[in-house]
Amino acid sequence: MGQIIDGKAVSQSVKDSIKAEVAELKAKGIEIGLAVVIVGDDPASKVYVRNKKLACEYVGFNSYEYALPAETTEQELLELVDKLNNDDKVDGILVQLPVPKHINDKVVIDNIRPDKDVDAFHPVNVGKIMIGDYSFLPCTPAGVMELIASTGTEIAGKECVVIGRSNIVGKPQAMLLLHKNGTVTVCHSKTKNLAEVCSRADILVAAVGRAKMITKEYIKEGAVVIDVGMNRDENGKLCGDVDFEDCKDKALFITPVPGGVGPMTIAMLMQNTLTAGKEHKCK
Ligand code: NDP
Repeated sequence: MGQIIDGKAVSQSVKDSIKAEVAELKAKGIEIGLAVVIVGDDPASKVYVRNKKLACEYVGFNSYEYALPAETTEQELLELVDKLNNDDKVDGILVQLPVPKHINDKVVIDNIRPDKDVDAFHPVNVGKIMIGDYSFLPCTPAGVMELIASTGTEIAGKECVVIGRSNIVGKPQAMLLLHKNGTVTVCHSKTKNLAEVCSRADILVAAVGRAKMITKEYIKEGAVVIDVGMNRDENGKLCGDVDFEDCKDKALFITPVPGGVGPMTIAMLMQNTLTAGKEHKCK
């Protein structure tokens, strides 16, 4: 059986090193704050927001939560974003997506100050990632990179296949692997012979959103398999895009769901917030 990559342990060590740095900053009187805005009462979003708040408490950030009713207008949300943009206590701003349909999430993201955009979704930050000159990395792809690093796998020269081309996962993931000199192929719903393309991958990242669609036919013997997917199986149980039981003996390293990529996303959000805080307060 391949080795299971323990996302909880890797994320814990990232959070612990952030916590130590935050304590040093506090000793110098520097406090870092993250504002998390949630509009409406999507149950999954509420869980994510709660977990982000707990992570802030753990590492020692001040967290400011704004829970707005579903009827909040786009204008009202933009006014709050503007207020947070101008609040020196706030180093990072995160608007939990999805927002209700009457609010244009693109407009909201465009109005977050790029140096407080700890999700790295603002076009300025997306462009910086493209040219490899970034302060913030998008949290989920950055977490995937940490997990790959934790296995000691060298990316340079390897065949890397990313399944999915979303703006928040697939595209930036491909870019980060490219920056590390991987030979990167990006697959999507129009890709032909998906299993064959994937089975060439030394490093396979699945970010599709389809429960257990990646079976052992998609996996190269000895591959590193990273499963970003968060889906529900036929019994309502959380599962990934990869059929873990089917693939675990063929992969050299494989992430479980839950306990793989998920915990890393929050750890990388804390990392981005620390970066923003130091940028604002330590220069
Ligand atoms: P999107 O729905 O935005 O993108 C899915 C991508 O998968 C698209 O590019 C789509 O192709 C592609 N795709 C869909 N069906 C197929 C198929 N049959 N074959 C090949 N490609 C296919 O999803 P996200 O990127 O936002 O998220 C992907 C998954 O990751 C979800 O399960 C999500 O819940 C999870 N996720 C987990 C996070 C974590 O912290 N662990 C964070 C963010 C997401 P096309 O572009 O052609 O439509």
